[in-house]
Order: sequence, then C-alpha cells, then structure tokens
Amino acid sequence: MTRLIPLAPGKACAAPPARVVLRERGQREVFCGLTSIMWLHRKMQDAFFLIVGSRTCAHLMQSAAGVMIFAEPRFATAIIEERDLAGMADINEELNKTVARLLERRPEIKLLFLVGSCPSEVIKLDLGRAAERLSMTYSPKVRILNYSGSGIETTFTQGEDACLAALVPELPAAESAAPELMVVGALADVVEDQFARLFDALGIGPVRFLPSRKSGALPPVGPNTKFLLAQPWLRDTARALEARGAVHLPALFPLGVEGTTAWLMAAATAFGVSPALFQAVTEMPRARATRALLRYNDTLAGKSLFCFPDSQMEVPLARFLSRELGMRLEEVGTPYLHAGHMADELALLPADVRLSEGQDVDLQLERAREARPDITLCGLGLANPLEQEGLTTKWSIELVFTPIQGYEQCGDLAELFARPLTRRTRLAV
Ligand code: SF4
Repeated sequence: MTRLIPLAPGKACAAPPARVVLRERGQREVFCGLTSIMWLHRKMQDAFFLIVGSRTCAHLMQSAAGVMIFAEPRFATAIIEERDLAGMADINEELNKTVARLLERRPEIKLLFLVGSCPSEVIKLDLGRAAERLSMTYSPKVRILNYSGSGIETTFTQGEDACLAALVPELPAAESAAPELMVVGALADVVEDQFARLFDALGIGPVRFLPSRKSGALPPVGPNTKFLLAQPWLRDTARALEARGAVHLPALFPLGVEGTTAWLMAAATAFGVSPALFQAVTEMPRARATRALLRYNDTLAGKSLFCFPDSQMEVPLARFLSRELGMRLEEVGTPYLHAGHMADELALLPADVRLSEGQDVDLQLERAREARPDITLCGLGLANPLEQEGLTTKWSIELVFTPIQGYEQCGDLAELFARPLTRRTRLAV
C-alpha cells in the first residue's frame, strides 16, 4: 500500500521547502528491537537484559553478538517453552526462578530489564506486573524494569527508545534550580568524553548523559533540564522527558562538521555562551574535521546514494553526505519520520529529493534497481542480494555500532561510505 503524504514543516526551520513523503506500508526487511541490546549492554555497565522470548530470539542474539562478545555478556534469553504456551507451567513462577538464579550468580547486576518479545506479546505476558512483583523482592539492591523489544511493527533502534523511555520514570527529580544539560541517546564512551570536554570548555554544565554508564548515576530531570537528542530514534524517550518538565533543544544531529556545530550551538545558545567563546572552542576541531573530510571528496563527490529504511539515521546521514561530501541523493527512506525532531534536517535536504517513510520492500527494490545508485545504504538482509546484482552496499547497522558522532569522527564516517566504493573499484580492476 502506498500513499503520498505531505509532511507538515517543523517549527525549527525558517523557510522549509514543501515536502512530499512517499509513505509505504508493506513487507519490511528490518531487525527487531532486541538488536539494540548489543550496544546498550556495553554502555550500561551494571545492567542486565533478560529477554523473555523464544529460541528464535536467542538465536538472533547469539548470531548478532557472536563476533562482539569479549567477556561474559550481560544479556540472556529466558525461553518460553511449549509447556508454558500450553499453560502446563506457570510462566510467572518460571520467570521468578530464572531471575533468582541469575541474580544469585551475577551479584554485580544492579539494573535488570525484562525485555518483551513477539512471543511474550502474543501470549500477553504482563512483564510490567512481573517487574513490579520482582522489584518487591529485590529492591533496592536491584532495580527491575521492563520494555518491549518485539519486532511487531518496530525497527531495531526503537529498542533503545523503549529502554530509555522505561528508565525516565526512574530518574531522580532535579533539586537544583540552575539549568542543566542532558544528552540523550547511547554514544560510544570515546564520543561521550569528547562532547563532555567541549561542553566543559564552553562553560556549559552540569552535563549528564542518558543512559548513564552506571545505574546509580542516573541523571536528574526537571523543568530546568534542557536536553539534546544525540540519536534520531528517541521519540518516546523525548516525550517522557518532556512529561517530566524537561525542554528539548531542537538541532541537527551531530553527524559531520555542520551537524556537530549546529548541535553544540543549540546548547550554547540555550546556555548563553558568547559567539566569541563558541568560535574559540570549536575552531580547531572544526578545522581538523574539515581537513579529514577533504580526503574523501574525490571518492564520494557526485556519487549517488539510495537509503533503504533501517536505522532511522538515514535523514541526517543523507544531509551530511550530500552537503559535506557532494553526494547525489536518489531516495532517502526511513522507517519513521518525526516531523519535529527532523525539522532542521529536512530543511537542509535538496528540495527535489525523494523521501519515503515505511517500506514496501518489493516496490522499493524496483526503484533502487532503476536508479542503479553508486552506493546503497540498507539492512543486512538486503545487502547480499543487492551486491549479487552488482550494486555496492553499506550495512546501516554498522553505522549504529561505530562511533561516528562529533568532529573527531567525521573522517571515519566518510570512510565508511568511501571504503565499499574503493573496494569495488579494486575488484573491478
Ligand atoms: S522479538 Fe520477534 S522478531 Fe525479534 S527475534 Fe524474537 S520473535 Fe524474532
């Protein structure tokens, strides 16, 4: 099913071009929200993710995590067996026993997420009530929360959104009347540290990050909290923070020189940083990042890009690749388009770019085949068949796992798109 929907412009853009969005609802090729546990469990160092799901869920996690586990992982799957489904066993009792065994064996766990899946949703297992019941036993030593990572009508990055939204009610109330900055969205530690240093040099503080590395250091929230989104997939988390009085600072996402500068500028403006100080603090890293991008101009300028909807990073990436590296955009597909959070990004895309939201994969594949883009950004499931057809692909999930935000990572981000093109050129020689 395909519909053309005009997208209302957001408040943040001064004179936004009228956009028509091709909205499709059909078969989709995306991972489910469980996948986000891969980066969340590394970020939240005393948390554990207990998926309540099927053997399929366990296999997904094992194969996705296979190359990434260097120590005992902080996630596992409590398998819903056939006898649970048939009502022959009390599934809540089984879950109690599993949690008891887990917490006894892993006393370092301070925050336990019960993560719902398609099977637990289908059998209507009430994990919210289970989390409440288990909290009565294990609180305050262990905090127990729940969210859904189910693949029913969701895409993989929404797992992080659901997880952080579940954390928001747990954030302590801000006690200070002074404004505080919260950066929302999991970032690699190295990127987080770089941003913390830049905010510090700008005199902006205190600055807190959600998620925090330790569950005992959750950031406080209140009407004096101003927050920047570091990732574009945090609709429910943003809404939950706003419900607690926090104020969203609209901005580009911190990808590329332009995005990073605008993102920092949004905080600088809100915290009354002088233009002179902003210039002084950002001048050198901006120049470094601009120089790093120059290396990739020959490879990427003029090349065409087709984005399949997968991570929700597609719009900011397309903005970066077209404006800073001169790529041509054939189609920018994204699973969901948040008109408010994406307003600044959309205002900077070429007026004639085809935007699509959602997916009908066969129709989209036809458009990609017709366009024959130089590079196709897509999920893992589409990459191999498209490579087989002679198209050069980039896995969008790789961009979620790689540190790409901020000035120091601009060159690495460009490299991720240049590398497949270079590889194909070498293979063709
Ligand atoms: S949550 Fe659903 S989509 Fe994800 S692995 Fe389990 S069954 Fe598959």
